[in-house]
Amino acid sequence: MGTGRNTVFSCAANFLRGRKCIFCGSFQVLHTSRGYVKCQLCGKSKSLSRLRREIAILQGFYQLQPAYRLARDLSVDVKVVTRVYQRLREALFHLAELEGGKLKGEIELDEAYFGGNRKGKRGRAAAGKSVVFGLLERESRVYTKVVESVSADELMRHIQAKTRKGSVYYTDAFRGYQSLKRYGKHHTINHSKAFVSRQRIKNHINGIEGFWSYAKHILYHYRGVSKYHFPMYLKEIEYRFNHRTENLFKRFLKIYFGYVSP
Ligand SMILES: [Zn+2]
Repeated sequence: MGTGRNTVFSCAANFLRGRKCIFCGSFQVLHTSRGYVKCQLCGKSKSLSRLRREIAILQGFYQLQPAYRLARDLSVDVKVVTRVYQRLREALFHLAELEGGKLKGEIELDEAYFGGNRKGKRGRAAAGKSVVFGLLERESRVYTKVVESVSADELMRHIQAKTRKGSVYYTDAFRGYQSLKRYGKHHTINHSKAFVSRQRIKNHINGIEGFWSYAKHILYHYRGVSKYHFPMYLKEIEYRFNHRTENLFKRFLKIYFGYVSP
């Protein structure tokens, strides 16, 4: 990890100074009289002041700054910030969907409810809430899906689409998982059971529960995400979680500007 604030953002230093091309990573850049940096390798050019502003906005995105507050801090129109945020968020949405193959090995499954005002019980019509099905491969990554319902049919459909047959599944005692044993090995966690046995050490869903708290923490920063926009934010959170041990800011730069390390 070792991602102190300075080391996280230091990867942008040469771009901010106009020494390195943001699009291809080349150092063969020229400065034009109109304040542009022009790359002699890939031929692309960009206004240095715009580049600096976009990098500052990406820093704000990395730090979970609400768009209106960042706009105020940077003295730019909120639309400028929103445009950068949306473009990156859309890219993250597609990347999160595309990444990796099927989950395998030990997999934790759980559902969670987000948004809305009332505390909804699972299975009930939870007005205004988004229902999320989460699948987490231990020591690896999470995959999330906003679902219409948590019926056994719907859950099994996603389990078959996103996990390898014969995996080992950990869930709580929810009925929706009862046909899982036909697809793999199924362990049910009983939260109320107090005894500690050897089996119980592995028998938990702490991984996916950790993801839910991670998601709720981030959504707290983005106060008031609408149900319509929620799936996009969820995928951003999934992407952040799956790459949380890397320099996320550096990833955001590369994704946003399309820079591929030469
Ligand atoms: Zn270039």
